[in-house]
Amino acid sequence: MARDPRYDILFEPVKIGPVTTKNRFYQVPHCNGQGYRDPSAVAKMRGNKAAGGWGVLCTEQAEIHHTSEITPFIELRLWDDRDIPQLQKMSDAIHAENALAGIELAYNGPNGSNLYTREVPLGPSHLPIATFYYDPVQARAMDGQDIKNLRRWHKNAAIRAKRAGFDIIYVYAAHGFSIIQHFLSRRFNQRTDEYGGSLENRMRLLREITEDTKDAVGDTAAVAVRIAVDELMGESGLHKAEIEDVIGRMAETPDLWDVTLSDWSNDSRTSRFTEEAAEEEFVRGIKKLTTKPVVGVGRFTSPDLMVRQVKSGILDLIGAARPSIADPFLPNKINEGRLDDIRECIGCNICVSGDMTMSPSRCTQNPAMGEEWRKGWHPEFIRARESEARVLVVGAGPAGLEAARALGQRGYEVALAEAGTELGGRVARECRLPNLSAWGRVRDWRVGQINKMANVSVYLDSKLDAAQVLEFGFDQVVVATGSTWRRDGVAHHHLAPMPIASDVAVFTPDDLVAGARPQGKQIVLYDDDHYYMGGICAELLVKAGHRVTFVTPAPEVSTWSRNTLEQDKIQARLINMGVEIVVSHLVGAAHADHVQLACAFTGKTRPVPADALVLVTARLPQDQLYLDLKAVEGQWAAAGIGSVKGIGDCWAPSTIAAAVYAGRRYAEEFDAPDIGDAVPFKRELAELLP
Ligand code: ADP
Ligand code: SF4
Repeated sequence: MARDPRYDILFEPVKIGPVTTKNRFYQVPHCNGQGYRDPSAVAKMRGNKAAGGWGVLCTEQAEIHHTSEITPFIELRLWDDRDIPQLQKMSDAIHAENALAGIELAYNGPNGSNLYTREVPLGPSHLPIATFYYDPVQARAMDGQDIKNLRRWHKNAAIRAKRAGFDIIYVYAAHGFSIIQHFLSRRFNQRTDEYGGSLENRMRLLREITEDTKDAVGDTAAVAVRIAVDELMGESGLHKAEIEDVIGRMAETPDLWDVTLSDWSNDSRTSRFTEEAAEEEFVRGIKKLTTKPVVGVGRFTSPDLMVRQVKSGILDLIGAARPSIADPFLPNKINEGRLDDIRECIGCNICVSGDMTMSPSRCTQNPAMGEEWRKGWHPEFIRARESEARVLVVGAGPAGLEAARALGQRGYEVALAEAGTELGGRVARECRLPNLSAWGRVRDWRVGQINKMANVSVYLDSKLDAAQVLEFGFDQVVVATGSTWRRDGVAHHHLAPMPIASDVAVFTPDDLVAGARPQGKQIVLYDDDHYYMGGICAELLVKAGHRVTFVTPAPEVSTWSRNTLEQDKIQARLINMGVEIVVSHLVGAAHADHVQLACAFTGKTRPVPADALVLVTARLPQDQLYLDLKAVEGQWAAAGIGSVKGIGDCWAPSTIAAAVYAGRRYAEEFDAPDIGDAVPFKRELAELLP
């Protein structure tokens, strides 16, 4: 199909200093939990995106010198010439697809404890390291020589970056991850010399490093400044008026302005907290300050909104990190008029959780993310079928939908049987919960794709038992029947059922999602799951008029949500909604009118009135069908069945991303040779030196 002329503007070239991007689709720097450990994996991931039509692909932050590193996090390193080949592999992969390669040079300063190199961190002032894990480490206030050194290190890194093939070289002053931002900040910069005090002084380092970089590489590479426009802290932090002043004063110095919010949790807000294009109010007007192109983000997945950004003079380039992860082929799909094939980011930040846990980033929507090189999975394509096998998929949650879709894409004949009257499983249910509507995109994209496939038949209202599966007469069976929330309190802390009197009104998230509501006013919600569901249920109950006491054995609510950059936002929302929060406590025992709480440290108990107890604890696989089929394994051959496999939550409950991955994995490994005990992916091993 042809491109809708409305979107032509998105495919115009844009000049960025000495280089020109072929279109306005700009993948801004984003981390991926692979970095220096998995260089070929990152190169392949970026190369695939370049093939998907992005005009510019940038690296994650690349540490410019060994005196500032952010162990345990895994980013890139450009400490000396030995790092060049790794980076060259990435720029080569990007250039092979006719796109520009950008690199985000970073000196973390007060944001890195240097746990690996054991160097003393440098900063504008004598202050503790500004990481969230409270390392007992302080940065040392830099003297004049330190500043000269930093400028030299940055310049050398820029020269190396150019030798590594990069076309756009960043000066980074954003996300709280860069010493240049710390110098800009009145909070961190308490200096009294020419680098502290007035705005002109605080921006001196930014100006000098930008000019140094231009001098070093500006003849052939573009120099971008990535700057935090607002920290969302009001006047006490960096804020729009102040940064507009900075941009105004050095408007024409860089070749590109990349504008962001700070810290990272504000720049990568989830769909639970913001809509698409949420940064518009912060970047509107910046283009009036400079003739240089401006790039910004906003979880953009809809081409009309992108066009509006350009036409209304807000942005020149449509920046994207997460939308490019969820759909590396987004630009090509717009170009080819295939809008309904766009796999829209759901704004869940599971990708971020990869980086936060030092593991390869995964994506709820794109199960190939992180697997492009090591498993050879592609975000768009999958090898054709290798047999005439027909596959029955039982259960149409994220695991079953993805298995059916990917098998269908390979060309197999697939039957998808779903007990309920709608497709989507937990996603269909959970996207009706407060602020989770975007999660429905996991279902929508897969159902949209399946509907185009003549070889995939969908049967709703079809709860199958083992006898019916045998009768179905298909060659292979995938059981993806999901899980249910436990009603006995078993989870991380209670490994055996908690003492709950028989007359206690107990509710699980399944009950609330299905529409059941407690009778009384006062609810104790016990969250030993620690991800989103506890907080979401509390919101739901408050909105329904209940008073909620949120009890968690952790020291804060939804503690795993730190990995999705949401924890502080969830806790603030619950406090603002009037939820009473009791941390570091377990449920000791539950009675009809009260719950006995026990301190997680001392065991000391205290009663809390409760008309009902909501348990957000562990889940149990809904694996009866799988077990029933295993019990009649002797009858499989006669029924024509070669194998029965459980996937997703019915195998072991986990995230939606894990269920989608399990579905894709089933389809990828279908008809593949048995590799036995071998490691099922490639990995790079360190070079041994004497
Ligand atoms: P996952 O996350 O593993 O995909 P879900 O719980 O989201 O799991 O989805 C499981 C789906 O399987 C639900 O839609 C459920 O209605 C369906 N299901 C469960 N048991 C059966 C069965 N015996 N036959 C058909 N569908 C089933
Ligand atoms: Fe978007 Fe979630 Fe995928 Fe990240 S993991 S790109 S937020 S869908």
